Amino acid sequence: MDFDSNGGNKRVFHRLGNKQSQPHHQHQQSHYPQNQKRAHGGLGGGGQRNDGFSSRKNPNFNNTWGRPGGTSGGVPPKKMERVCNFWVQGKCNYGDGCKFLHSWSIGGSFSLLTTLEGHQKVVTGITLPSGDKLYTGSKDEHVRIWDCASGQCVSAVHLGGEIGCMINEGPWVFIGLPNMVKALNIETVTDMSLSGPVGQVYSLVVGNDMLFAGIQDGNILAWKFNPATNCFEPAASLTGHTSAVVTMFAGANRLYSGSMDNSIRVWNLETLQCIQILTEHTSVVMSVLCWEQFLLSASLDNTIKVWAATPSGNLEVTYTHTEEHGILTLCGMFDAEAKPVLLCSTNDNFVHIYDLPSFMERGKIISKQEIRAIQAGPSGLFFTGDGNGQVRVWNWLAEPKTAM
Ligand SMILES: [Zn+2]
Repeated sequence: MDFDSNGGNKRVFHRLGNKQSQPHHQHQQSHYPQNQKRAHGGLGGGGQRNDGFSSRKNPNFNNTWGRPGGTSGGVPPKKMERVCNFWVQGKCNYGDGCKFLHSWSIGGSFSLLTTLEGHQKVVTGITLPSGDKLYTGSKDEHVRIWDCASGQCVSAVHLGGEIGCMINEGPWVFIGLPNMVKALNIETVTDMSLSGPVGQVYSLVVGNDMLFAGIQDGNILAWKFNPATNCFEPAASLTGHTSAVVTMFAGANRLYSGSMDNSIRVWNLETLQCIQILTEHTSVVMSVLCWEQFLLSASLDNTIKVWAATPSGNLEVTYTHTEEHGILTLCGMFDAEAKPVLLCSTNDNFVHIYDLPSFMERGKIISKQEIRAIQAGPSGLFFTGDGNGQVRVWNWLAEPKTAM
C-alpha cells in the first residue's frame, strides 16, 4: 500500500455542520454500538446497521404503504429539474427568475455542506469507522480518508484493485476487491487479506458474528473472527445465485442477498440455509434493506418492492413503488425530526427522498453522474458518492414552519 497526503479540499464540513445538533454530537458518537462489542473479540454484528434504520420501531405503524397521511408535506418548488449551467460557473444573471435550478437539491429539509474532491472514478463505498474520519472507496482503486473537522483528505491508500464496496464494523473496515476482501483494523493499524472470492467482491455485510462477501461468481463467502489466532477464518460458502451478488442486508436472523440473476435469496443466519427465493423483480436487484418488519428491495426494473411475511413466514410483495428509471441504491435514515426517510438513487442521476411509509416525495438531489453510494452519518449528516468520484456532505434541517 502506498499512502499520500495530497488532494482533498480545505472546506470544513464537520464544524459547519448542523449547529443545532451539536449538543447531540457526543451522544451520537457513543451510540456507535461497535466499540463496546469489540470487547467480546468478535465482529459485533447482530446485523444492525450504523444508522439503526431497522432497529427503531414506530409504535403507530400500520400498513399504509404509499398512502399519504399526516407526514411532513413540504411541496418542492416547481422549477425545471435541471441545474443551471451558468450558475455552476458562477455567472447566471437571472437570479431567482432563472427557470433552472441554482442548487444541487430540491426541497427544504436538507442542504449541501461541502463537496469532497479527489476520487477519479465512481465512489462505491462510504463509511465512518470513527467519529472524526470519513472513509470513501472508489473504482479508482483508492480508499480516501477525510478528516471530518477540516474536510481535508488526510490520506489516499492505493489497494491495487477496483473497490466494489466498503463497510465498517467495530475497529474494522472491510473493503471488497477483486478476488479478496481487505480487512483494515483502524486501531491497531494492521490489515489482513481474506482470500477465497473468485472475481470482484460487490457487497459486504456483518451478521451473526460473521462477515459475508457477495461475489461476482454468484457465491457468498462467510468468515468468522477467531480472537485466539487474531484471524478471520473461512466459515461457510452460500451457493445458489447464478450471477453476481451485488447487495446484502442482515437482520432478524436472516441474510438477504440480491443478485444480477434478478432474484433475492433469504438465508437463515443460524443454519445458513436458503429458505426462500424471491423472483418478482425482472432485472438486477441492486439494493435490499429492512425497515420495521418489512424488506425493501430495489431493482433496475424501476421498482421498489416492499415485502411482508405471511403467517407461514414466507415473504410476499405488499406494495410496489415505480420510478421512471432503474434504481441503483437505497439508503434508509432519519431526518432532523427523527422521521424515517428513504433515499433512492436512480440512473438518471437523481436521488429521490421519500417519507416512509407514504412514499411522498420530500425532495431530490441532483448529481452530474449517477450516485452509487449513500451513507447516513452522525449529527444529522449524510453522504453521497457519484460516478465522477465526487463525495458530497449533506445535513438534515428542521422543516421550515409555515407562518400562520
Ligand atoms: Zn440560472
